[in-house]
Amino acid sequence: MAYDFDLYVIGAGSGGVRAARFAAGFGAKVAVAESRYLGGTCVNVGCVPKKLLVYGAHFAEDFEQASGFGWSLGEANFDWATLIANKDREINRLNGIYRNLLVNSGVTLHEGHARLVDPHQVEINGERFTAKHILIATGGWPQIPEIPGREHAIGSNEAFFLKALPKRVLVVGGGYIAVEFAGIFHGLGAQTTLLYRGDLFLRGFDGAVRTHLKEELTKRGLDLQFNADIERIDKQADGSLKATLKDGRVLEADCVFYATGRRPMLDNLGLENTGVKLDKRGFVEVDDQYQTAEASILAIGDVIGRVQLTPVALAEGMAVARRLFKPEQYRPVDYAMIPTAVFSLPNIGTVGLTEEEAKEQGHKVQIFESRFRPMKLTLTECQEKTLMKLVVDADTDKVLGCHMVGPDAGEIVQGLAIALKAGATKRHFDETIGVHPTAAEEFVTLRTPVAG
Ligand code: FAD
Ligand code: NDP
Repeated sequence: MAYDFDLYVIGAGSGGVRAARFAAGFGAKVAVAESRYLGGTCVNVGCVPKKLLVYGAHFAEDFEQASGFGWSLGEANFDWATLIANKDREINRLNGIYRNLLVNSGVTLHEGHARLVDPHQVEINGERFTAKHILIATGGWPQIPEIPGREHAIGSNEAFFLKALPKRVLVVGGGYIAVEFAGIFHGLGAQTTLLYRGDLFLRGFDGAVRTHLKEELTKRGLDLQFNADIERIDKQADGSLKATLKDGRVLEADCVFYATGRRPMLDNLGLENTGVKLDKRGFVEVDDQYQTAEASILAIGDVIGRVQLTPVALAEGMAVARRLFKPEQYRPVDYAMIPTAVFSLPNIGTVGLTEEEAKEQGHKVQIFESRFRPMKLTLTECQEKTLMKLVVDADTDKVLGCHMVGPDAGEIVQGLAIALKAGATKRHFDETIGVHPTAAEEFVTLRTPVAG
């Protein structure tokens, strides 16, 4: 049967754009549908604007530290509206770049909400198109628990467009977004409290990293409240919010920001018209080649709920394009050793196994750890400490994991990830000459194990 397209991609986010562009580059006839914004979550309400706000928040400490280097500054003033307007301008520019990338690579762009009509057919803006393959790359959406008053809370989508910086913010959650936004609000001058339901935030990260970040954030005056969760939110007559916690305490705020995970975006997608199945958590179920239970339909990125990171969605998009239209170049995505950063202030950078995971997996481990005051701070009052940690297999000498909390940890961990991917041993680290004077050189000068 002749189809309108070889591949119809639903969602022009990180994964969808990558798959569409490469498939078109391999000679396929491709369309992509986008209902909201070109570039998806990462470009519009994720990685990019988030990082811009983190840069903005970082200036608070730069100004504080500058006096140690002889600078005297007038009173520093921050204007939220300027930051948001400049951020919006940059995002608009990126939207244009994404549009050009798609159009210049020969992809047909359909702007509107796409819905599956059957396993080979999509409806958008009242028109129907057939395709040999359909790729679901619809991403995720913030998930706010069903508590009384949840309508008074915001999620990350709204946070990027607040009209003014709230004076008092309650951030709920203990994952990437909660920790990053707590740092943003606090750095920009809001009185910020982070509420996390467990004993310690960032579950799944190395224990030393979690504790170290807790200490550093506390030193900076961020109010961290663990084993704390909101039961209800009430709006008061003056417009402020009253959050009643499960333990009965009441906190007042001008903004309650939830970062309690993301659900797959499947709203009105028409999955019921196909054989696509969902997994136990509600994400689209795929096999190791991103094939759903419906032979003609594939899915990648956040909607499959594997690793919700942009570079992973990009890699999955590339894998799908190659598998369908350039099979001789197909390589499966390798999910081992995915480096990641949390852009808290200070940053976390991490790759490989945590100490806890390594032990659980039966490795006999050697742990190398260093805590030091970064050189830049020695002329300042700031007492911030950087943490670096290596988890090494005592039998094979292989470095199983690298973890860091400190300035530029995200930048530093990228290079270490290549070393770990290549199977580097502790001896390789030891024999590598440092770059002096940097913080990163500590990773090649850790000599004495601290614990076994
Ligand atoms: P998305 O980028 O979400 O794209 C999906 C697209 O599909 C969207 O544009 C949506 O509008 C569209 N769509 C949905 N349904 C339909 C439909 N029916 N019809 C047409 N279009 C539809 N990752 C990192 O690696 N680093 C970071 O620093 C980072 N920071 C983040 C910060 C925040 C606040 C958030 C929320 C996420 C962050 N992420 C980060 C995660 C990253 O943004 C996602 O992993 C990534 O965007 C997933 O890409 P995707 O292609 O699966 O989906
Ligand atoms: P995460 O899954 O990282 O964290 C969710 C947090 O919310 C956890 O601390 C979880 O607690 C808590 N939580 C979940 N449900 C509830 C509830 N009902 N009540 C109270 N707390 C709850 O999700 P995020 O929303 O922070 O981010 C989504 C994903 O986006 C991340 O996992 C990451 O993949 C990606 N991302 C990546 C970034 C980066 O690369 N820098 C930045 C931002 C996002 P518990 O641990 O107890 O389950």
